[in-house]
Amino acid sequence: MQIYNSLTRKKEELVPHEPGKLSMYTCGPTVYHYAHIGNLRSYIMEDVLEKYLRYTGLDVKRVMNITDVGHLTSDGDTGDDKMLKGAKREHKTVMEIAKFYTDAFFADCAKLNIKTPDVVAPATQCIDDFIKVISALIEKGYAYEAGGNIYFDTSKLKEYYVFGDFSEEDLAVGVREGVEEDGNKRNKADFVLWFTKSKFDDQELKWDSPWGVGYPGWHIECSCISMKNLGEYLDLHCGGIDNQFPHHTNEIAQSEAYLGHKWCSYWFHVHHLNTNSGKMSKSKGEFLTVSLLESKGYDPLVYRFFCLQSHYRKSLVFTYENLDNAKRAFEKLAASVAAAKKTASGEPDAAKFAELKAGFDAALGNDLNTSLAITALYDVLKSDADSATKIALINDFDKVLSLDLVKKADALIEAEKAAESDVPAEIQALVDQRREARKAKNFALADELRDKIAELGWVVEETRQGTKIYKK
Ligand code: AMP
Ligand code: ZN
Repeated sequence: MQIYNSLTRKKEELVPHEPGKLSMYTCGPTVYHYAHIGNLRSYIMEDVLEKYLRYTGLDVKRVMNITDVGHLTSDGDTGDDKMLKGAKREHKTVMEIAKFYTDAFFADCAKLNIKTPDVVAPATQCIDDFIKVISALIEKGYAYEAGGNIYFDTSKLKEYYVFGDFSEEDLAVGVREGVEEDGNKRNKADFVLWFTKSKFDDQELKWDSPWGVGYPGWHIECSCISMKNLGEYLDLHCGGIDNQFPHHTNEIAQSEAYLGHKWCSYWFHVHHLNTNSGKMSKSKGEFLTVSLLESKGYDPLVYRFFCLQSHYRKSLVFTYENLDNAKRAFEKLAASVAAAKKTASGEPDAAKFAELKAGFDAALGNDLNTSLAITALYDVLKSDADSATKIALINDFDKVLSLDLVKKADALIEAEKAAESDVPAEIQALVDQRREARKAKNFALADELRDKIAELGWVVEETRQGTKIYKK
């Protein structure tokens, strides 16, 4: 697979460290609130990536953390503790908040057909691992204690701003406008590994450490959870584009300082979902959730389809108008699949299958071009392949796309059957006579019968999916 690597800013062939296997790490949610549909755009695209890699035959192991401690409202070391903020808002304990929103996150993922990673690790359950790595960083001279906290010393690195898209002036934590400067830091870009002298006296979760009672910084979580579960060489690391700095930059700094060699080969960043008024964010207070979309009558898979229609490296604007367009297209697609399903019989044609599958593979193999993969799906339905081959291909593509199209088609067919079984015998007899008349090309009689059916309060219609009968 060719994939755009944010680290080298090039499309590259994805070559795993160990042939046939692939280690994949994803930054998990900060569980102080519901995930908004922007967060879920990232998780949908990462889910498609994971499934596509499996589809190509790789043995993928995927790990994700749950941030239930250490993430401040800025992505650096300033602002309030997000978890504490959530607990105060809801008059609950931090652990109650963490449990509630972790469950809510996975419930949303299930509705969107997002597979749960092989390992899900809450940060609060890995404190010993953080302490081990921080101790080693101090020993190696990459970290220091100041004012009671432990900081990573970025001046010890040859290169800190590895993603290269940032200017030091713009982004150095502590010099951004309105952000207080931490006088303990030796260098502007240094970041906290362990907070001991917390400014949050009411911090609920604290652990003993060689440096006093305290809690870990956000960045160290991901490095440690990844290295613990996926070893010293990570193939692929994912996250939203906002995670590039400082979060992923700091992850690389501390992991490579600890390991003494290059850590992760490929970085996959999903661009943001925006509204007309800018980036969707939890801290803005008002944000869109999967439940909200459901309450407005949208199937969550319509949102998945909406996301797949555009490339992950382009920002995507959410409007209800755009979502309605996706809904209409998705419903039409399900109806076309239903039409194919009704006539599918026998074995798929292997040659045709391979020919049409190649288009799908080429789309996703080229930097996960999901919109072209959807086009490949339409191409299958438009093709001259027989229905059994079409259905086999749609089932095959769904291992990656997870749109449940065949399931939706089955539901449509069932609903049609149920509607037909409500038709009184007298009407059904007239409909059958009309069908025979049409077959015999006796359209005058067919029209007469349609009028007679109408007089009795029923409508008969010919559609691409077959004859439809319903009450006026
Ligand atoms: P958080 O729960 O804030 O730690 O974020 C979870 C994931 O969502 C991270 O990978 C973020 O980079 C990503 N993310 C945050 N906002 C957006 C957005 N508007 N669009 C897409 N991804 C986002
Ligand atoms: Zn992370």
